[in-house]
Amino acid sequence: MLTTHLLGFPRIGARRELKFAQEAFWRNELDEAGLAAVGRDLRLRHWSWQREAGLSLVAAGDFSYYDHVLDTAVLLGGLPARFGFAPDRLDRRQYFELARGNAGQPALEMTKWFDTNYHYLKPEFDADSRFDGGPDWLFDEINEALLAGFQVKPQLVGPLTLLRLARVQGIEPLALVARLLPAYRRVLQRLTALGVAWVQLDEPILGLDLEPEWLAAFAPVYRELAVAGPRILLATYFSGVAERAALLRELPVAAIHLDAVRAPEQVEPLLGNWPLDRVLSLGVVDGRNIWKTNLDTVLDVLEPVKRRLGQRLWLAPSCSLLHVPVDLEQEDGLEAGLRDGLAFARQKLSELAILARALELGRSVSFQALEQQRQARARFAHLPGRQRADVAARLAAAPDAGRSAPYPVRYAAQRARLDLPLLPTTTIGSFPQTTAIRAARGAWQRGDLAEADYLAAMRAEIALAVERQEALGLDMLVHGEAERNDMVEYFSSQLDGFAATRHGWVQSYGSRCVKPPLIWGDVARPQPMTVAWSRYAQSLTDKPMKGMLTGPITLVQWSFVRDDLPRAVVARQIALALRDEVADLDRAGIAAIQIDEPAFREGLPLRRADWPAYLEWAVAAFRLASGCADPATQIHTHMCYSEFEDILPAIAALDADVITIETARSDMTLLDAFAEFAYPNEIGPGVYDIHSPRVPDGAEMQRLLEKALTVIPAERLWVNPDCGLKTRGWSETEAALANMVAAAKRLRSRL
Ligand code: GLN
Ligand code: ZN
Repeated sequence: MLTTHLLGFPRIGARRELKFAQEAFWRNELDEAGLAAVGRDLRLRHWSWQREAGLSLVAAGDFSYYDHVLDTAVLLGGLPARFGFAPDRLDRRQYFELARGNAGQPALEMTKWFDTNYHYLKPEFDADSRFDGGPDWLFDEINEALLAGFQVKPQLVGPLTLLRLARVQGIEPLALVARLLPAYRRVLQRLTALGVAWVQLDEPILGLDLEPEWLAAFAPVYRELAVAGPRILLATYFSGVAERAALLRELPVAAIHLDAVRAPEQVEPLLGNWPLDRVLSLGVVDGRNIWKTNLDTVLDVLEPVKRRLGQRLWLAPSCSLLHVPVDLEQEDGLEAGLRDGLAFARQKLSELAILARALELGRSVSFQALEQQRQARARFAHLPGRQRADVAARLAAAPDAGRSAPYPVRYAAQRARLDLPLLPTTTIGSFPQTTAIRAARGAWQRGDLAEADYLAAMRAEIALAVERQEALGLDMLVHGEAERNDMVEYFSSQLDGFAATRHGWVQSYGSRCVKPPLIWGDVARPQPMTVAWSRYAQSLTDKPMKGMLTGPITLVQWSFVRDDLPRAVVARQIALALRDEVADLDRAGIAAIQIDEPAFREGLPLRRADWPAYLEWAVAAFRLASGCADPATQIHTHMCYSEFEDILPAIAALDADVITIETARSDMTLLDAFAEFAYPNEIGPGVYDIHSPRVPDGAEMQRLLEKALTVIPAERLWVNPDCGLKTRGWSETEAALANMVAAAKRLRSRL
């Protein structure tokens, strides 16, 4: 039979068993043996699923108690010296201290894994880094699999991707190759000794824009590794590598994996010159999304490849299944027609098996399985709500333009309407989500609190937030978002075309999981979503009250998006729905509306060449959502970062009247780019970091503002924290905001 395998399975567990075990361990309520037992159960279960589905090889090394990039560094012995841990005697508590920090040391830095919502830990290497080997955890895991009778293919982050993703100080990253290679070789030799035939080395950086010296490093590195042990499957994913054909051909690896979902166009050209003895693993089942595979189309592509390569063709998901939920079987609350369209990690294993059978024995032998899939997909395709004539008609008629008046005209109209002082103070939207708020929401969701009582409780919270903001003397108020548990879920649960799962958790980092909504149908807004809350909040104060929406890009970016339409079209549908909300808020007399886009930058494609196309539709979607606002209504946007240097033209093209960004931790240095670019509209650079309970003093914030004033004129400068305050407590929030308002007032009096 054709070889089927996968590049990794979600480790968190169908019921987030790992999360609960990790957190219990951290609270000292579960001991190390208890944690290990949960890990072992999960691995055995996932391996059994892979074997039951008929996969030829099961994955090992994909399981992790925190993060797989950290695991590879740990395996090699590459720990930051600042922790003072002995790499080969590292224990589980120390491992978690690397990931989460301890009393003396901050954790390793966390960043997004390519363009996914998974966050990995950045290994730290320097001129003194040694890679003398770490604990035997991977080898134990392989033994565990072998003992249980599984054919196992371990996986590691490849050396060049590891170096590229690490924070390397005091030495050229590539200079560490010479030290890293012996460590990898020792691991490979031990795998051979265990009887492992194949090892997967992940080198997803091959799909990035890479400097020539990085590209040149691949051939020598893999020449060294190829002789050491098991046959190497080099895995690329998330983008195409066709332009690296010559390099790939030279690599002495036994197999290469290509992502044929993200970059199907790369298969033809690469195959043209495929070495005779090399395996091609094709990722044909989408590891980044949750829709059932169109098996017929995939077979059309695979059949000619199979004729050419025979058993040298392997089948796999496009990338690790880490990025999708575990098991659709649990989703008994979903509408049947919608379930028909879905495949989670476990279901994707079966898809692979069907494909392999159909390729090996012919489509007629697999007729029944193929037909079932066809019919399910057809039912889903015709589900009412998937294609809506009304949405299509509105989309076709949607305007292209932004606001009806240019910024200078709007500026004057808004200043006249809003009556704000120089350096107006405001916040980003949320106020503390207290236990009382969460308890009330929980009780309401369980049916223990009547809806009317829940709504009354939220109104009381809003009134309290307004009262406190007035007492603090803030100039532009917010309602505080008490009624929202999550900025995406709050909107997705009110929009047609979105659905929520019950157990569709995906690991974000460590024990943290997210449950992205599904965008399965055409998006429309059946009724206003936020207007009543904003109107109520505005009725409590004479100060201007900011309406609060989540933007189209963020809603797309943090959801599983239908794959039968371009993302640009889905974003436009959402933008139109939000546009209705903006119009309604405007009509309700709300004078400022913030459209949050924290995911705007993370939507950028991996390759620079693809940036302009993305930025064009992303900007257009924001302009469509906000453009209908009256010139005298102030549109704000918020982004949780400030690395804008390379996309400032797009940020300016959003044409928000005010943008609030995160700058406190970078000491305002990132504002320089705005000044250089001569960014035309108003900016609120965050003056304090909301990620810690520390209360910053007024002098510190005043200094930051003075710094900001050297690059942004006072007429266009706002004063606000870095981000929303929902994770903070009220006492530190009030203290910090009081200092912030005082700092703004002091500065104002001098202007
Ligand atoms: N308005 C949101 C809040 O304050 C914004 C959060 C975000 O951008 N991440 O919570
Ligand atoms: Zn933010």
